[in-house]
Amino acid sequence: MTEECCDILGNPVGAERKWFRSRKADSEEWIPAFLLDVDKNKCTGCGMCVRVCLGNCYEMQEIIINGNKKKIAIAIRPENCFGDCHCHKVCPVPGGAMVCKPKSIEELKGE
Ligand code: SF4
Ligand code: SF4
Repeated sequence: MTEECCDILGNPVGAERKWFRSRKADSEEWIPAFLLDVDKNKCTGCGMCVRVCLGNCYEMQEIIINGNKKKIAIAIRPENCFGDCHCHKVCPVPGGAMVCKPKSIEELKGE
């Protein structure tokens, strides 16, 4: 996904947050998406989301799935999410192993 430009919209929902409106190269409006969870079955445990997330939303943890140990990313602080989609861009799983909820700028502003 390529953003052409972005406008800082100010701070509609939080004291220290700034939200951006941007457009993809095809001029379609880019919609921010906010972290809800990580699909434990899809995550490969590469750790890239942990490295790029500015909100410190993820942590790598070892869990047991179907009797096997697996290290995966866990969404431990989804409330910190900025909706910038950096994690989506680096996740090697097609479509991303994270579950995110898109929100329009109007929704963020509570309009
Ligand atoms: S969208 Fe941004 S802030 Fe939210 S979890 Fe992904 S990288 Fe972190
Ligand atoms: S980037 Fe994707 S595959 Fe890698 S740890 Fe994060 S959620 Fe899992």
